[in-house]
Amino acid sequence: MAGLLQDTSTRIDTLVEKLRTRGHRITPQRLAILKVLVASEAHPSVDQVYDQVKAAFPTTSLATVYKTVSIVKAMGEALELEFSQGSNRYDGKKPYPHPHVICTQCQKIIDYETVEIDAMVTKIKQATGFEIDNHRLDFYGICTTCQKSQTS
Ligand SMILES: [Zn+2]
Ligand SMILES: [Zn+2]
Repeated sequence: MAGLLQDTSTRIDTLVEKLRTRGHRITPQRLAILKVLVASEAHPSVDQVYDQVKAAFPTTSLATVYKTVSIVKAMGEALELEFSQGSNRYDGKKPYPHPHVICTQCQKIIDYETVEIDAMVTKIKQATGFEIDNHRLDFYGICTTCQKSQTS
């Protein structure tokens, strides 16, 4: 657990440095947004990040959260999961492509990482000659919590 916290603060330092290099000011609000993005495993929407940051910094605007999230995304430091229905969700903890398992009832999103994906990417490269630099793999279903509430 200590290692995990260390990793998070190192990521924050790196992000702050990258933002500064690009000429962005680091306000306490912006720092709080980065912290929520990097620490959250729940793949929050911009609104959800806003709610968390607003609790500590009531003067934070939704526009600031949008702007900061889009800058972080543009730097390749957060994965954006777009949905045709519902809000886009963000993974700032794992900014690289990985499979997601999504509950169609409560919109919970969890990560599922497996080496089989790497093997598949290698096969696709060989079969198509493509340089593969991204992929999106979503599995939809009903999470265990929603299954329980259905049967009771
Ligand atoms: Zn669910
Ligand atoms: Zn994820």
